[in-house]
Amino acid sequence: MRNPNTLRDFDPAKFTLMGFCAECGYSAPVNRVDEDMAIPTLIRLLSCSRCGSQACSIRIIYTAVGGYSYGY
Ligand SMILES: [Zn+2]
Repeated sequence: MRNPNTLRDFDPAKFTLMGFCAECGYSAPVNRVDEDMAIPTLIRLLSCSRCGSQACSIRIIYTAVGGYSYGY
């Protein structure tokens, strides 16, 4: 079985990790406190810095040149 991806797999020069709160709709880049942390673990530990909810999800956004852009 393949190990889950860790933060290290997503070069900060190429990817932005955005956290989204299901409760209040807040979104912000996720702090990369531990490069070896698995993405599923990170999602489980995440809590919203605005309302404190743990109903958070993550989107990994490719930001390198030639990638796509995104809007709110
Ligand atoms: Zn929230």
